[in-house]
Amino acid sequence: LFVVFEGGEGAGKSTQVRLLAEALRGSGRDVVVTREPGATEAGAQIRRMLLDGDALAPRAEALLYAADRAHHVATVVRPALARGAIVVSDRYVDSSLAYQGAGRTLPVGEVAWLSAWATGGLKPDLTVLLDLDPSVGLVRAESRGRGADRLESESLAFHERVRFAFLDLAAADSARYLVVDAERDPERVADVVLDRIRSLLPV
Ligand code: C5P
Repeated sequence: LFVVFEGGEGAGKSTQVRLLAEALRGSGRDVVVTREPGATEAGAQIRRMLLDGDALAPRAEALLYAADRAHHVATVVRPALARGAIVVSDRYVDSSLAYQGAGRTLPVGEVAWLSAWATGGLKPDLTVLLDLDPSVGLVRAESRGRGADRLESESLAFHERVRFAFLDLAAADSARYLVVDAERDPERVADVVLDRIRSLLPV
């Protein structure tokens, strides 16, 4: 089972990934927790290029996210799924459709094609969208000291485009998506997610 968490800044993805992994491991499941960008050694270098340096040209940025993802899927996600583990990833393809597509305004169909090529078409069984107003999320993210300079370099309008792109993706594929209001108490969010995952697991 391949589960992905998506959402904007400060939505609480890393907390929810951790709570889900703990709950599933508590019931004896083999769980692999991972993330994009930067889950592999090469990915960590790509992540630094993407997030620590000067802003890249949008197409260069999109290619680096795709390169990180291609290596991540080939070396982490597919091997874990093949041995029967539950893979829980913090971000995946839909982040590129939202950030590089809607955010940077690259043609979304082209970003989708690039992502499909990078992943060999691997899709999640479930994507959990932690939906949050970016004006709330950005304050949360900055209060955690998350790259305030970089976050501020992108406008609120950018983060709003990202948010609505995620909501559109969820609406277009509602069977594969669970949308949760990320302003709710994290424990309650985790319960909603766990209920949905349990309904997907073989007993
Ligand atoms: O999920 P995390 O907060 O670690 O992501 C780091 C940053 O990378 C985010 O703030 C987001 O702006 C950016 N990002 C992006 N495009 C992606 C994935 C992440 O711009 N496809």
